Amino acid sequence: MAAPVSVDVFVIGSGASGLAAAVSAHRAGASVALAAKGSVQSCNSAKAQGGIQAAFGVDDSPDQHAEDVWKSSHETADRRLVEVLTGEAPGAIHWLEELGVQFTRENGGYRLAKCGGASRKRLLQVGDRTGQAITAALREAVGGSTVKTFTKSPLSSLEASANGWRAICGEHVIDADAVVLAAGGRCYREAEERGELSTNHPGATGEVTQIALDLGAESRDLDALQYHPNGGAWPANMQGYSIPETTRAYGATLLNAEGEEFTDPLGPRDEVSQAIFDEVAAGRGVETPDGRPAVYLDTTRIPEADADVSLPYMLRRYRAAGVDPLKEPILTYPVLHYQNGGLVIDEHGETTLAGVFACGEIAGGTHGRNRMMGNSLLECTVFGRRAGAAAAERARA
Ligand SMILES: Cc1cc2nc3c(=O)[nH]c(=O)nc-3n(C[C@H](O)[C@H](O)[C@H](O)COP(=O)(O)OP(=O)(O)OC[C@H]3O[C@@H](n4cnc5c(N)ncnc54)[C@H](O)[C@@H]3O)c2cc1C
Repeated sequence: MAAPVSVDVFVIGSGASGLAAAVSAHRAGASVALAAKGSVQSCNSAKAQGGIQAAFGVDDSPDQHAEDVWKSSHETADRRLVEVLTGEAPGAIHWLEELGVQFTRENGGYRLAKCGGASRKRLLQVGDRTGQAITAALREAVGGSTVKTFTKSPLSSLEASANGWRAICGEHVIDADAVVLAAGGRCYREAEERGELSTNHPGATGEVTQIALDLGAESRDLDALQYHPNGGAWPANMQGYSIPETTRAYGATLLNAEGEEFTDPLGPRDEVSQAIFDEVAAGRGVETPDGRPAVYLDTTRIPEADADVSLPYMLRRYRAAGVDPLKEPILTYPVLHYQNGGLVIDEHGETTLAGVFACGEIAGGTHGRNRMMGNSLLECTVFGRRAGAAAAERARA
């Protein structure tokens, strides 16, 4: 075991939320260390494609955004957190731009798309590699700072100490005044246990949530796991790929075996997924060549100009697999995607354990039991910044 390292703020996780917390705590004057289970790049955030929500449309407002979150959550979200999320969304976008993220623009403004459950066009994109662009900018900010980074250092133990918290991560012992848990969700493990497909990276296994629960932290909605309505079902090498929801934002529809539309393609995620499950259960689905259930996502309805700007990566992936989504519908079926609930936090990201903060997918409340697309990257940025700043403040106290 290496000699203990002492810092003001220790961040666990290198996804968008952990990186945002580290940048924010560092800018607030704290000494900061960050640990990741694998490489810094290995996280769900880097895989996010579709985009990030913020109310920039002329007919839109943070209140309207909050109303959409509330309705999509079926009135189960924590309204205080939702107001923070939507109220700080435009500022969070400008903060990301200041770090170097270049959102796709058109006609002098942002290119905005309407995602499932939204009443307005509100989704900003960086082509269809939004998460990669955001995490790359955040990684650069962390890399150019004095934040100490420990890779391949999974958290295995966290305990209260005289001055704060002592963490063991691989060979490293870290003493910190405040800790930020940003270790993501558990859908990869959950899918393995259920024998299902998942969109998640292999590190999404949830043991950090368990460590916090064992310490007595409160949680909420942990049973509410989200299916992404459009997992790739065929070709075989696209199974588990999350087909961006922006395909439906730009015109794709869901069709059954008879070629009939059976649901509003822009409904809330849980409703669209359920409609697909029901259609297949009613015998109106199709079967993939390897015998899996599926329906059609009619991507041929997407105008080529929109696909070229907002779906280039998806097009490349499918064309490389021998299918052109602009010429033929693709086969899809819901896949495990997101942990809606998590550790209970307040507006500053503090859990019910003093000095332990949480942000991103590991935290609960912001989305209630059903998250809208594009609000996770937003949550990572808004609450990552807040948790980092509050943890730095705690260290100063
Ligand atoms: C394919 C895909 C597409 C998506 N598309 C979108 C989208 O378009 N818009 C949107 O808003 N959201 C999207 N999401 C959801 C969103 O990307 C994630 O929910 C969010 O980025 C999670 O960020 P995070 O920082 O909480 O966790 P992650 O990005 O998953 O990072 C977790 C970090 O914790 C580390 N970690 C885990 N366990 C330990 C441990 N024991 N010790 C140390 N470190 C640990 C991991 O190594 C990793 O660094 C998508 C998700 C996926 C999988």
